[in-house]
Amino acid sequence: MSSREVMIVLAHAQTCEPCRERLLKDPLAVLRGRALSDEEKATLSGLAAEDFGSAEQLAQAVGCTLADLFEYRDHPVARLRHF
Ligand SMILES: [Zn+2]
Repeated sequence: MSSREVMIVLAHAQTCEPCRERLLKDPLAVLRGRALSDEEKATLSGLAAEDFGSAEQLAQAVGCTLADLFEYRDHPVARLRHF
């Protein structure tokens, strides 16, 4: 449960507030057309604002490792691709 696409979405939502709000408000619109499994979409759709409180909370919420999150935080695609 830590495909590249999932991590890119998470890493961007973590650092970009407008996109994070979009993901929380209308996840299906944000996730539509992305290379994600139904399970991954369900997990990302189920995130709450509180889950973004810290990297630890976010990793726990999606079932990935902190290392996964940090690996993508500075990834150019994650940084620059707005939802
Ligand atoms: Zn953004």
